[in-house]
Amino acid sequence: MSSVLVVVTRRRTSRLSIRINKEGEVHVSAPRYVSKRVIEEFIAGHKDWIESARARVAARQQKREAFYAQLDVSTPAKRKEAAARLQQKVAPMLESHAQQMGVKPAAVSFRATKSRWGSCNTKTGRISLSTYLLLLPDWCIEHVVVHELAHLLVPDHGPRFYAVMDRHFPRWREARRFARQF
Ligand SMILES: [Zn+2]
Repeated sequence: MSSVLVVVTRRRTSRLSIRINKEGEVHVSAPRYVSKRVIEEFIAGHKDWIESARARVAARQQKREAFYAQLDVSTPAKRKEAAARLQQKVAPMLESHAQQMGVKPAAVSFRATKSRWGSCNTKTGRISLSTYLLLLPDWCIEHVVVHELAHLLVPDHGPRFYAVMDRHFPRWREARRFARQF
């Protein structure tokens, strides 16, 4: 386990715990009164767990990177082309669902974001969609479209929001599970 970064944070906690972040760094939370030696022993005692957890994290990151690498958005021209392709795909979905739901987005924009599939500014009525949606099957793209449109009716993710989803996209749970694996 040489060259593994271990960050120890003292907290108001009664026990020691370990977590591995996306970069494979080891973060240890320790109570304030526990000695450095005890912490070191705790880390040494969890050596195997840390190694397998880091391997799992690395595999997940690799899978994620390989997934996003399928869409080349490295230049402005390529980003524009991807946005145009997605726009063409979602236009009929937006139109039919907006009509059924009785909403009208002020604008829909496309950006190559990996952090989220879509977002909705409920104050301005603007919807933003990730061009990486192109990597998902159509029914999952449709789910994101309906999700963002639903925010024009219900801003938060409370029971009312999911009642709207149940009504307008009953497969939302399945679609969410599918999209979350990335
Ligand atoms: Zn949402």
